[in-house]
Amino acid sequence: MASISVYRQSANSTLRENVADLHSRRRSYAASTTFAFKSSFLGKRPLFLHSARKTLARPGLGSADYSHSNPITASCHTFDVVIIGAGIIGLTIARQLLVGSDLSVAVVDKAVPCSGATGAGQGYIWMVHKTPGSDTWDLTMRSHKLWKMLAEHINDQGLNPLQVLGWKKTGSLLIGRTAEELVVLKERVKQLSEAGLRAEYLSSSDLLLEEPALLVSEDSGAAFLPDDCQLDAACTVAYIEKVNRHFASKGRYAEFYHDPVMCLLRSSSTGEVEGIQTSKNTLYGKKAIVVAAGCWSGSLMHDLLREEDIVLDVPVKPRKGHLLVLENFKSLKLNHGSMEMGYVSHQDLTLCSGLADHGKNLSISMTASTDIAGNLVLGSSRQFAGFNTEVDESIIDRIWARAAEFFPKLRNLSLTDFIKDRKVRVGLRPYMPDGKPVIGPVPGLSNLFLAAGHEGGGLSMALGTAEMVADMVLQNSLKVDSAPFSVQGRCC
Ligand SMILES: Cc1cc2nc3c(=O)[nH]c(=O)nc-3n(C[C@H](O)[C@H](O)[C@H](O)COP(=O)(O)OP(=O)(O)OC[C@H]3O[C@@H](n4cnc5c(N)ncnc54)[C@H](O)[C@@H]3O)c2cc1C
Repeated sequence: MASISVYRQSANSTLRENVADLHSRRRSYAASTTFAFKSSFLGKRPLFLHSARKTLARPGLGSADYSHSNPITASCHTFDVVIIGAGIIGLTIARQLLVGSDLSVAVVDKAVPCSGATGAGQGYIWMVHKTPGSDTWDLTMRSHKLWKMLAEHINDQGLNPLQVLGWKKTGSLLIGRTAEELVVLKERVKQLSEAGLRAEYLSSSDLLLEEPALLVSEDSGAAFLPDDCQLDAACTVAYIEKVNRHFASKGRYAEFYHDPVMCLLRSSSTGEVEGIQTSKNTLYGKKAIVVAAGCWSGSLMHDLLREEDIVLDVPVKPRKGHLLVLENFKSLKLNHGSMEMGYVSHQDLTLCSGLADHGKNLSISMTASTDIAGNLVLGSSRQFAGFNTEVDESIIDRIWARAAEFFPKLRNLSLTDFIKDRKVRVGLRPYMPDGKPVIGPVPGLSNLFLAAGHEGGGLSMALGTAEMVADMVLQNSLKVDSAPFSVQGRCC
């Protein structure tokens, strides 16, 4: 792995402030925009749409200085790579290019980091619910290796990965409660062990010893992966933003937030994608434009290519999820992260096309963990409800009730008692019907790349995805076969 430049925190409180800032920015989605960026090119340009425009001479980065805080209006900037989307996927791709090459990078978002699915994520960096040999297996394994290396690197820098990323080796429990589920769990443990992971099957008595708060019967058992980890999405994003911003002072990085992408800029002579037009800026990407816009990637690509001669359908759909966070929760102590066996099928549930009642697409399965701040995090729901992100209290009640089936101590408590000490996180997972992300160049537009559709595994697969995209842009050999994720054959 390339050497990593780390922006050192002067104190952990700085990071906490940044995380708090991320949360407050998430709340004030529509607030006005300012960002620390001063254009290398100060001219203003007319807005050009699609291929109708003529190719223009593009300014170089020259003596760029991004260290001042200057709100800017519609102006023109050139980078090597422009990334659309500041979720975990876009931000980690930026980081990988910044630390692993000398390219300049811009990240554009219609809102701010963590305003998409990333801000809702539970943070499981887990293998226990993955299937050896599946299309996403190698990418996930590689990605987890990179997360562990990053945590070690942070540690080697004299920082605490727990404070910086919310990184904890909690171990994971995939819990079964019927004789049929236990058969499947035993087979899963065998497969995971054969794939080289430390995996144990826990009988009901062993399970009770590992996680005494669980309700266990003779039909209970679990697959236990002691090396599975978790992170805190907000902490991790704050850290990655800091690393990326370190390169701003070197003239290699800029952020354009609250600035939705409107259209592509294509060369009239070669047809190559040269850049994008946002609501406020014209951004050229000399080497690549990467669309990492989560569940919005399909509609965005549709809009971007609407007047083009290219037929591309990225079938990514928003899959809404609720998480319940009970702050500083003392009534339940968890040793590990938990997930009910039903999660695996709940994750694989396919979209019923044409179903009028979206409520029928709702599924809830128990996940439970304790985060870095001592909050109990309970999940999760999955449903197809369009791009709506309103909290549905009836879903929260069902998440609570499901958790109480597994953790009897919760039955003595009423959710209404926690009304002041609870938060609900809602996010739209980028769902792909075939269950795997789409990563790679768009056929016919070789410098336009897609990296989207990670559904419930985007935090887990982020660093592997980032490495793959960066290697594609840099034309390096790939560490993981990208064929299962190709755009060709799945979107066109
Ligand atoms: C409840 C819940 C629990 C989860 N738990 C886990 C977990 O434990 N482990 C795990 O690995 N994953 C988990 N996930 C999944 C994970 O959060 C997602 O897979 C991941 O965050 C997707 O990241 P992303 O960057 O692709 O998308 P997002 O985070 O949604 O980011 C996409 C960004 O694109 C921007 N954008 C969209 N359109 C435009 C435009 N036109 N112009 C500019 N910007 C645009 C958006 O504003 C957004 O910021 C969970 C998700 C949910 C909802």
